[in-house]
Amino acid sequence: MKKTRNLCIVLLLLFSIKSSAQKDMLNKLYKKSLKLSEVENYMELNNISPAQCVDSKQVLNNDLDESDNIRYSNRRPSYEIKVFNVFFHVVNENNGNRAVPISENDLIEAVAILNKTFNQFKIFFKYKGHDQINSTWRSVLYIGGNRTFSQLVEYSKSIGKYQNNSFNVYIVSTIRYSQYDSRKIAGLSNKPGINSVIDDEYLLTSTLPHEIGHNFSLEHTYRNWNNSNCNLVAQNDYIDDTLPSMAYENSEIDSDCSTYIGDKDKNKCGIDFTQVPATNFMSSNVLPCRSLENASFTSGQGKRMMLTIQNKWNTIYKKVENSIESLYEPYQGSYVQGIYQDPNNVTGKEMKFQKGFDYQFVDCKKTTFVKKSYSKNDVPKEHPYFTAIKILQVSSSEARKCNIPRPSVYQGGTVISFGNIIDNNYEVKKLDSEEIQNPKLVETLPFGYSIINKELKNGDKYQKTIYKARN
Ligand SMILES: [Zn+2]
Repeated sequence: MKKTRNLCIVLLLLFSIKSSAQKDMLNKLYKKSLKLSEVENYMELNNISPAQCVDSKQVLNNDLDESDNIRYSNRRPSYEIKVFNVFFHVVNENNGNRAVPISENDLIEAVAILNKTFNQFKIFFKYKGHDQINSTWRSVLYIGGNRTFSQLVEYSKSIGKYQNNSFNVYIVSTIRYSQYDSRKIAGLSNKPGINSVIDDEYLLTSTLPHEIGHNFSLEHTYRNWNNSNCNLVAQNDYIDDTLPSMAYENSEIDSDCSTYIGDKDKNKCGIDFTQVPATNFMSSNVLPCRSLENASFTSGQGKRMMLTIQNKWNTIYKKVENSIESLYEPYQGSYVQGIYQDPNNVTGKEMKFQKGFDYQFVDCKKTTFVKKSYSKNDVPKEHPYFTAIKILQVSSSEARKCNIPRPSVYQGGTVISFGNIIDNNYEVKKLDSEEIQNPKLVETLPFGYSIINKELKNGDKYQKTIYKARN
């Protein structure tokens, strides 16, 4: 009797330690002393178990059709690049406030996470923007009954905020099983589909690629683990290169992130899941195994996603497609008149390109000459004149969008004429802004060598050497 009571007290204590750590984390998020991108680390350090995604089989009732599985396994996917728009709906309280602040930088980080995770399968994401949905009632979702995810999607359609041409990612304050069951859920999504919802604190964790993986028809690696049909248990997610698994908690996984050390007789078929893919994005959410740093998709999962895109192209994915070219456009700030950049354009905000890619700004003509490069965690904030852009994840050889300054940005320049030999014998001529932008400038030059110096209003200087032969 005494023993039981002690156990109860220990359990209660453990529970309260756990929930107070969770509360501390939320408080830090509210006060902005913890960033969303630090949530995974914080949870790991403070032994907070992350919430899981609900098994869509039980909840969304949108099962994978068996015949699809067979078709899938025999087909080869197309390896063409696909670019998809992604749009975020930040769900706030009625007055527009929300406890966990979400900035546009967080959303850009979210898109970077998606690109870093999915680019290897030729799947790219273009940030299309975000809006705010102010509705306290809808900021908390339940799995069943009222306040469901599908009701939130319908509501956003009814107020004209749903984006037909994008993946729609909703960010809410809480997802729970029900009004009476306060267990939290990290995210939910349509499978296959283009809609998903994330509990705000999980926005920049492995939950985001997990939910988008569902959107491309990926199943949990522990799918069917407790089914009485033992063939299905062994097939788990119908993907050959993911180990069969079961649903588990942190305490049931060894520190090697692959050995299951929990109750071996848990499943109905008595199958021994000793090795489980705990670092797979579609496995149970345990840290540090399924962190953004450690988690991955297998090539079989990649193939499944690419085949889903192909299979459901006309019905689902075609309408959310964007061009490859769109990846080379800044998400903020713009070029005036196509490719030309105009420093006098004061209406534009600072130019910013999406993060998550390896960029090279290369000489327009000699595209192996890299003038500036950025890595995946950088946000390029300018497009230098006479450079074109390479996104190495798209192509390491092809450069796009040469940025040529508009004539009006020149403030003047000089022409230095040497004659047939470049030596100390030369003549300098100053040119005003009109003369320097004269398209027939070269025709006015004397025979022999000339150096043209062009000066732009923003202080940039460009030099070109020309040799004009006597015919
Ligand atoms: Zn899931």
